[in-house]
Amino acid sequence: MRIGNLEACPGEKKAGWIPVDGTPYRLPVTMICGGDGKTTLITAGVHSGEHVGVQAVMELAEELRPEDIGGTVILVPIVNVSGYGQRGTSMVWEDGKNLNREFPGNREGTTAEKICRTVTDVLFPAADYYIDLHSGDYFEELHPYVYYVGPVKEQVRAAAQAMAACVDTEYVVESQVTTGGAYNYASAAGIPSILLERGGRGLWSRAEVEADKADVRNVLHHLYGGAGMSDGMRTEEALHEAGKQTLLTDVRYIDAPCGGCWYPFFSAGDICEKSAVLGEIRDYFGNVIHICRAAERCVILYQTVSLNLPKGSPMVAYGVI
Ligand SMILES: [Zn+2]
Repeated sequence: MRIGNLEACPGEKKAGWIPVDGTPYRLPVTMICGGDGKTTLITAGVHSGEHVGVQAVMELAEELRPEDIGGTVILVPIVNVSGYGQRGTSMVWEDGKNLNREFPGNREGTTAEKICRTVTDVLFPAADYYIDLHSGDYFEELHPYVYYVGPVKEQVRAAAQAMAACVDTEYVVESQVTTGGAYNYASAAGIPSILLERGGRGLWSRAEVEADKADVRNVLHHLYGGAGMSDGMRTEEALHEAGKQTLLTDVRYIDAPCGGCWYPFFSAGDICEKSAVLGEIRDYFGNVIHICRAAERCVILYQTVSLNLPKGSPMVAYGVI
């Protein structure tokens, strides 16, 4: 198995760097090659302020063994290496762009576009499956859930849905978006892909990292089998039997209609009735200048919890139930 300048033979684990051409950056990559089977790409830090997945992927790169995998696993703990190095926002430092809106990227473009193009050109061609780990941003709290993309080839959708069913989250979201995001683009290109959301506020806990790792191991177990994958095992059948996951197909992403101070009235994971007031925006004198209501009965998937709320920024995202 060869990726860029990295090469691993069956039974080997190799770590190294893939340069982002035309930038000072390079992506940290670990390849674990267990045999001739399929290849799974696992990334985190597409949004650099989302740290649970970053830590989980670093630990998985150390813990997974070639003999546990009937194929190859490629792990990239941080994709937005630019934003991570600056701790400014989750965006790329040089251009302020959101990597998860810029796929497939552009070799001649800005830094964000070049990072995306590197993933598209070097990593995606090797991948048969793709797992991308996210969280809420520095200013967001989030209830764990997992995405797959709906409107793609039926066998791709079905394979991704089966991967999502291995994940220990209460909610599964079928996204209708086939462009821009890493997993969205990969799905449309024929790679069964999921995006796992857990944690937020720039924090990471041991419990969240272990939960991310158990989810990834369960997906890998589903894809490859393997003795070393059984930690915290949750089979697809067990999940379905328990009726654990609720499928959401209608998620509303509400951006701030005006800037100000934000006061959410619920927490991520709460169920809200139709027309419930989810929060309000006040000006610096305490006057209410906007009231945000639920358009339908819903579950709050994530929301801003910082006091400051810039106009046009993500305010709350809820799934209609
Ligand atoms: Zn994210």
